[in-house]
Amino acid sequence: MKPRISNPSPLTAVIVLVFFAPLAMAANTIEVVQVVQSMDQDVPLVSGKATIVRVYLDGAENQGRTVTGRLEIRQGDTDKTATVDASNSVDAGSVQAGSKMDQHDDLRKSLNFLIPPDWTAPGRVSFRLSEVEQSSDRQPLPCASCPSVIKTVSFKEPPALKVKVVFVGYNIDGISPFAYPSTADLADIKSWLRRAYPASTLIVSSGVVDAQANNLTGHFTCSDLNDALGAIRLVEVTRGGVDPLTHYYGLVSDKYFLMAGCSTVPDTPDARVVASGAAGNPAHHPEYPSIYWDKSSIFTGWYAGHELAHTFGRAHPGKCGESHDDSYFPYDQGHLSNIPEKYVGLDVGEKADGSTAVILPGLRWADVMTYCSNLWISKYTFEGILKRLYAENGLDPSGGPGLTPQVSQNPSPAPSGQFVDIIASVNLSKGTATFKYVQKNPSPYFQLADDEGDAVLRTLDAAGALIHAYRTRVHRNTDLNTNADQVGAIRTSIPYDDRISTLQLEVNEKIKAVFSAGGSRAAVNDLLVKNSGDLSGEEFSVMTSASQAEGIENGILVKWKAVGEGVTYTVEISLDKGKLWNTMAAGLTKNYLAISPRTLGLEDGRDVLVRVTSNDGFRSTAVDTKNISVGRRR
Ligand SMILES: [Zn+2]
Repeated sequence: MKPRISNPSPLTAVIVLVFFAPLAMAANTIEVVQVVQSMDQDVPLVSGKATIVRVYLDGAENQGRTVTGRLEIRQGDTDKTATVDASNSVDAGSVQAGSKMDQHDDLRKSLNFLIPPDWTAPGRVSFRLSEVEQSSDRQPLPCASCPSVIKTVSFKEPPALKVKVVFVGYNIDGISPFAYPSTADLADIKSWLRRAYPASTLIVSSGVVDAQANNLTGHFTCSDLNDALGAIRLVEVTRGGVDPLTHYYGLVSDKYFLMAGCSTVPDTPDARVVASGAAGNPAHHPEYPSIYWDKSSIFTGWYAGHELAHTFGRAHPGKCGESHDDSYFPYDQGHLSNIPEKYVGLDVGEKADGSTAVILPGLRWADVMTYCSNLWISKYTFEGILKRLYAENGLDPSGGPGLTPQVSQNPSPAPSGQFVDIIASVNLSKGTATFKYVQKNPSPYFQLADDEGDAVLRTLDAAGALIHAYRTRVHRNTDLNTNADQVGAIRTSIPYDDRISTLQLEVNEKIKAVFSAGGSRAAVNDLLVKNSGDLSGEEFSVMTSASQAEGIENGILVKWKAVGEGVTYTVEISLDKGKLWNTMAAGLTKNYLAISPRTLGLEDGRDVLVRVTSNDGFRSTAVDTKNISVGRRR
């Protein structure tokens, strides 16, 4: 908010001082803005978020004068007030009445005040201009309208926004060093969510996994990654201590290929829906105008903002080449506003003092759910995400109590008995389906299968006789090219029955998949957790063939006795003595995994716990846990 105003020439200044007495200023409008706003003040404000008050002046008669001012803030109907100095001066002559759009689009044409955080607490606050003065000598200027132009707004407390970003390390050829997103990518996601999302408390955690250990190979797709991430989230929420309202985002570096991101769009609040997307530098992708428009060195933040918004129920408006899935989207061209320009965005930027704030004109910037250039969040998307956040937290759409809590787990009391959680993918173009993850659970993690949907899920006994048939939905993926395979996901839970031996999935009577419980009972025997320096020759050869292509010299080998066909393994690591567990692999088919402590940010001497679970589908599970000091020789 540093104005770039040319100083009046000394001659002009003399003329002003000598020949003109101060003329009256007028305050026309006060606007309170966080992310996007109109002069009608119809975009909600959330408490605890960076807030700038813009005062639009009318000073047509004061050509050549620069003026500044002071804002009075009043709490509700109380006598508690504070004053804030403007962070800029304006050229009084440039702010003439009748060119509102011109003023709205230019931070230099309003007096701007950064509101102290204490004054954005939940509740009502009023603003008025208490003083207008000439910048050069602080001489007060009369302003007859200033006392009566008062803006009263209400800050509502938003729920905390909880996101876990899972870095997915990969190579394509099996030889090259793994590519991981960087800490700058994580910082960019945090920054963009902080600046643009309707939230003030951001709880962003992160984890690191290896693609191959999670059955992702070659040029894997976001659909494949979302299935794997869905399984990781299932494990972490059901037994890893993660808050069930955490939204998961899988992040893939653009070093070897650009993995286009996607998610599915839940109609009702559902934090179990995961998303994934790419991280990197827009300059590396001239072939993608939907990324290349960004002239900064990193696109990771807004890209995550788009994909995560899908998990909050936001669909594509269909304005710039993206699919048309939201017929309620109000802006014809996909911008932040229709013509005439009513809404204007404001990006407060990196610095807390407001000095990096920039205006994003509403007819040049577009909504983040489009594939247009210059992406920001429109009023429509801001409100949509805020309402969904409230609903996920069991609050009514305006933030008050009232709704039945819609947490991501099924509402309590949980149905009793045992359940089978199922993740499967359906390729509607190829006519194939695959079970991705199947696990028995004491309470259902997903919505219980009901009688709606395109897919039929059958449970069969050992003799192949039908036990039960359920209908379930195929969740269509977003962001798929029209020429790419149309892929969807099945995520459901069904009651467990100890006669179940096989699951059958059928979509449109054509696409079929089968899942059979492992022929061997699950077990984790002879669990070995060792630093590479302590490995025997035979163990070291296992380490070199372990899925992680690097970190052999510094890695930790986790190995156990193979059980047999049809059993898969989950490997988790805890860095805090077992309070929170990070899943390193879910649905692993090998009986070993290499963990790279460096990649996880673990220093030598750090004590960690490693837990291995074996799972034969839905009959049995077995667990063993070992602790280890990173890098320490015994
Ligand atoms: Zn999308």
